[in-house]
Amino acid sequence: MATKKRVVVIGGGAGGALLANNLPLEEFDVTVIDRSPYHYYWPWLLYVAFKGSKRPMKKEIRELLKPGVSFIQAGAQSVDLNNRKVVLENGKTLEYDYLVIATGSRPTYSQIGGHKKVVERYGDYHSSEENARRVWNAINSLKQGTFAVIVGGDPYRCPPSPLEGVFLAEEFFRARGLRDKVKIVFAVPYPRPYPAEPMNEVVEPILRERGIEYITFFTLDRIDEEKKVAVSMEGEELKYDVLVVIPPHVGTDMKIAPEDVLTQDRFIQADKYTNNIKGFDDAFVIGDASAVPVAKTGVTAHLQAGVVARRLQGEDARNSGRTNCPFDLGYGLGTFVISDYNNPVVKLPPSRFSHLAKIAFAASYWDMIRYPELWNPIFEAYFEATEPAKLGRIYV
Ligand SMILES: Cc1cc2nc3c(=O)[nH]c(=O)nc-3n(C[C@H](O)[C@H](O)[C@H](O)COP(=O)(O)OP(=O)(O)OC[C@H]3O[C@@H](n4cnc5c(N)ncnc54)[C@H](O)[C@@H]3O)c2cc1C
Repeated sequence: MATKKRVVVIGGGAGGALLANNLPLEEFDVTVIDRSPYHYYWPWLLYVAFKGSKRPMKKEIRELLKPGVSFIQAGAQSVDLNNRKVVLENGKTLEYDYLVIATGSRPTYSQIGGHKKVVERYGDYHSSEENARRVWNAINSLKQGTFAVIVGGDPYRCPPSPLEGVFLAEEFFRARGLRDKVKIVFAVPYPRPYPAEPMNEVVEPILRERGIEYITFFTLDRIDEEKKVAVSMEGEELKYDVLVVIPPHVGTDMKIAPEDVLTQDRFIQADKYTNNIKGFDDAFVIGDASAVPVAKTGVTAHLQAGVVARRLQGEDARNSGRTNCPFDLGYGLGTFVISDYNNPVVKLPPSRFSHLAKIAFAASYWDMIRYPELWNPIFEAYFEATEPAKLGRIYV
């Protein structure tokens, strides 16, 4: 019998866990490494922050992996791509035939002056459950004044998430009868509230309808929490009472040799169709950790995991660059940000169905990770029915 190929997967989040569960164990010896014992369903931070949800948003990685997949709870310190070695923070070394890096992305608080103080005070919804609870406490204590959300820089996880927070906050203050006392302001460094123009045509009218103010070309430079003012590089000042900043994200904390596979902000460069790390046939990067030109979303990680699993089994599978980001517009409405490498974002109108699809996805998430053999055909049918080229002909 041929010896099994050793696959080491660094990161047991959305991309890594799904990749591991998609590999046939008769062919592969699969080891997942994660610093954390838990896999987090990050999109739920939105509902912790703006709905006060107490629904658990993490599960043990070990529980989510198929029996037979090995799990090592340890940080990976360095990767030597030329010599096929991974060194762990506990001093152990692992050798591999194939490597998949799925270490995600993480917020950074060092690029904007005063950012840390603001997070300690009001929290955010891109880092931890604790910080999302701080947002919930902050909006509950605001009875009058200005609630501001500022996009602090690119990239960050889930392009719709800043506006989702704004819409849910508006719904929150209206439900509390405080809407005439609380002004809501959204500031972005872009020329329009949503960067992709077709989706902006969907959301900008909603912002106006709901009386939410927005400021464009606001590149956040520093925040003075004593004076409660955020200052842009353009010199504009935004006064606030409660401020939530969408933190810019950076890539991996591991040392990687050769270093030139990393971008300046530590994302890993890869072929956008195959996810092969630049210059390496036996190493891949999937999900948020990669520098490929697609949005940092779980769905992207999911699709890339499927492609890499099929490539490892000898198929010439390729990524289309498909995005499929559910977008909560508040008041039980939603839309989806759908595009691929060849088709721009579709102008998909708000609907109750899109909102419910987002909630149904969250409700089924753990099952989707654990049993890809059940869910893969459902996703294939869904992605085929909602191809951006097809939808683009309907929604113009
Ligand atoms: C508020 C919010 C809303 C979102 N909404 C959506 C949505 O509606 N739809 C959607 O598709 N996506 C959404 N996302 C994005 C989605 O959560 C991420 O894109 C997805 O989790 C990325 O998966 P990943 O596997 O790349 O990284 P992750 O899921 O972050 O997993 C990375 C794993 O790697 C581990 N790790 C990191 N470094 C090391 C190391 N050196 N050694 C060992 N382990 C390491 C981490 O502990 C972690 O478990 C949202 C995100 C946020 C914050």
